[in-house]
Amino acid sequence: MLTNCHTLILREILKETSQEYDSDIYVYNVVPDSLPLSEEFNAKETHRFELPKGAYENYPKLKWVKCHLIVDNFCHYGSINKPAETLSPEEKKGYTYRKGKELIPFLEDFCSQVNVELDSSTKFYVSHILTEIAVDYSIYLVDQSVANLLNASRDAMRESHINELCEGLAILYACSPEKVNRARSAPRKFYGDLHDLKFLFLDGRAKIILRKLGLEFSEENIILGTKLIESCSGKTKNFEEFTENAKKEILAHEKQWDNGESILSES
Ligand SMILES: [Zn+2]
Repeated sequence: MLTNCHTLILREILKETSQEYDSDIYVYNVVPDSLPLSEEFNAKETHRFELPKGAYENYPKLKWVKCHLIVDNFCHYGSINKPAETLSPEEKKGYTYRKGKELIPFLEDFCSQVNVELDSSTKFYVSHILTEIAVDYSIYLVDQSVANLLNASRDAMRESHINELCEGLAILYACSPEKVNRARSAPRKFYGDLHDLKFLFLDGRAKIILRKLGLEFSEENIILGTKLIESCSGKTKNFEEFTENAKKEILAHEKQWDNGESILSES
């Protein structure tokens, strides 16, 4: 899933827990997707959680990075753990892949307009990303406070919080805190003004599709991409069925994942 969906699910989870938390946990919760927008990280590196002893206790907010991976697993596979066997995109049973199948005709239309041919497996893969993009746009259409929450949480971070974030992530990803700090600005560089929500969820996200298909970010391609997102969002306007289920599943398995143990996921 992408940022808006992750933020919504976390907000709903927090409503049901009595624990105290700092607002910057929303930033931790989107790290696996935001860092790879820079050249310095790839999604494979950020979608694994493996910590040296003691780190989880010293950097407790890393729990919310792990929560992201649990949600990703649920939306790809329908369970909080990644299955042991490797599944092809067509075999994955989570919401994004099931919904993605419904979006394939839209994707095919788009591909014929931009003269791209995709094999069947790539269609299943790209259509799951299209689901994630369409869900984020659908959430934006009904509730802009979700995206505003993430922006406010990012904007409110003090220097001490930023240092804690960079140091904790440096341990998690076995790199320097400076590298994390450089990559922090990647979303703004990639998308532009993160407070311009309509631009972010349409034009910005159109670039994600273009990048996946190896197409240039021309004005014409971006317009076609935004039209694709708008069409697909008609199929994801009932996203709450999914986000509610995800919340329940994450809460029901809290004892299983609320610890420093390793976990694997994928973007
Ligand atoms: Zn992710």
